[in-house]
Amino acid sequence: MSIEDLPAKPRLPIHPGGDPLFDAGKTGAPGFVLANLNRLVNWSRSSALWPVTFGLACCAIEMMATSAARYDLGRFGAELFRPSPRQADLIIVAGRLSQKMAPVLRQIYDQMADPKWVIAMGDCASCGGIYNNYAIVQGCDKVIPVDVYVPGCPPRPEQLIDGVMKLQKKIMAEGVYIPARG
Ligand code: SF4
Repeated sequence: MSIEDLPAKPRLPIHPGGDPLFDAGKTGAPGFVLANLNRLVNWSRSSALWPVTFGLACCAIEMMATSAARYDLGRFGAELFRPSPRQADLIIVAGRLSQKMAPVLRQIYDQMADPKWVIAMGDCASCGGIYNNYAIVQGCDKVIPVDVYVPGCPPRPEQLIDGVMKLQKKIMAEGVYIPARG
């Protein structure tokens, strides 16, 4: 006797009286998934941050090391540094921001896709650092809104990774609709 000769197993209705919608395709596949839209959108946003390729000074070397093989920022979904701000939703301000570069930073930020986030990496980007003089902007938050500040001179790659993880936590707490920031 082959398996085809066996009598068909009676199908038990899931709902009393038999609901054709639920009873028709008992394949084991659920067919639908229930999820919180906020969590789903925020999870996809926080797990695939695309930073724009942008470095200003010595901190940028640590940023490059963070994305290379040893520290592997790809483990957190943020290793895909984009050459165009239009393809990026994260900017890591790595280094001191001179007055001359301030309008450039602002223009790059304005060209990035919404929603977008900013990490100020290092003392110089956060508050001017040791450069308390007329040539250096005393914190890039004077030019663009900053989400996470990473302290250090320079911060180690582990610190930048910690900053990315803190940003991910912040994104997970946001709503689906984030109004554009000025
Ligand atoms: S924080 Fe230190 S390492 Fe980073 S740009 Fe400033 S001086 Fe250089």
